[in-house]
Amino acid sequence: MNELLASIEQKVRPLIGQGKVANYIPALANVNPNQFAIAVYSNDGQVFQAGQASTNFSIQSISKVFSLALAIKHNGEEMWQRVGREPSGNPFNSLAQLEYEAGVPRNPFINAGALVISDMNQSRFASPHYAMREFIRRLADNPNIRTDKVVAASEYEFRARNASMAYLMKAFGNFDNDVEAVLHNYFDSCAVSMNCIDLAKAFSFLANKGYSKHNNEQVLTPKETAHVNSLLATSGLYDEAGSFAYHVGLPGKSGVGGGIIAIVPNRFSVCVWSPELNKSGNSLAGIAALEALSESIGWSVFG
Ligand code: GLU
Repeated sequence: MNELLASIEQKVRPLIGQGKVANYIPALANVNPNQFAIAVYSNDGQVFQAGQASTNFSIQSISKVFSLALAIKHNGEEMWQRVGREPSGNPFNSLAQLEYEAGVPRNPFINAGALVISDMNQSRFASPHYAMREFIRRLADNPNIRTDKVVAASEYEFRARNASMAYLMKAFGNFDNDVEAVLHNYFDSCAVSMNCIDLAKAFSFLANKGYSKHNNEQVLTPKETAHVNSLLATSGLYDEAGSFAYHVGLPGKSGVGGGIIAIVPNRFSVCVWSPELNKSGNSLAGIAALEALSESIGWSVFG
């Protein structure tokens, strides 16, 4: 596996230079674009890696998977009255659909949906950011994971679009807490800094029927795990989810920091990272690396 990952790195490195680092969050625009990492965490506890797999980066929307898992653990089926389970086909930060669908976001992975999930977690925990950070640290088995406060402050300063979504949902009666407080906690989660090894390990429960082996925790039930994976497969890659399912065939979630996690159920979890993004906001070299990986292992959840 280490050899395979090294060969994938060789194959995709030439793509660096063809994408664009996210710049709508100014603190992210300063990242060195010339970076690539891949890490695999197998269900029997082995780590495989290539590139800068121990270099931390901003997990951004990958944090939405942690927030969703936390919300599923603490809310019943009624949570799905406030957020849908359909792909949006729209950019992650679109406001248009939210207006004509009466403030109920299409899914938990577009920004509006993640904000509703953050609102649920805000109602549930006295200190939602602390609850999230401890959850992530436990799953990754790394007590040193932190939020990058510079990124979080930059996101809050340039929050106009996310704030618009949250206030629009509030106007429709689909937001319980103070919008600014929820935005702070949402940005603090997006601004968590982790590396590929941390992330592959943290999401191993999604490859293992909800069970996190290294900390002996049943994070979600097998059924809840299948639900999260189905949402990742249909809505995890912004408006490129269909093409990702077609070419890679795995549940996955990307973030504008250039990270992507993907799940090979019953086998392993994987994280790739390269900061330059394609037109849909997904890591350009990251997508190519996952395509190469899925092609090599000859495995897709679609058969
Ligand atoms: N914090 C980013 C935002 O709210 C997350 C975007 C992403 O990674 O998709 O815009």
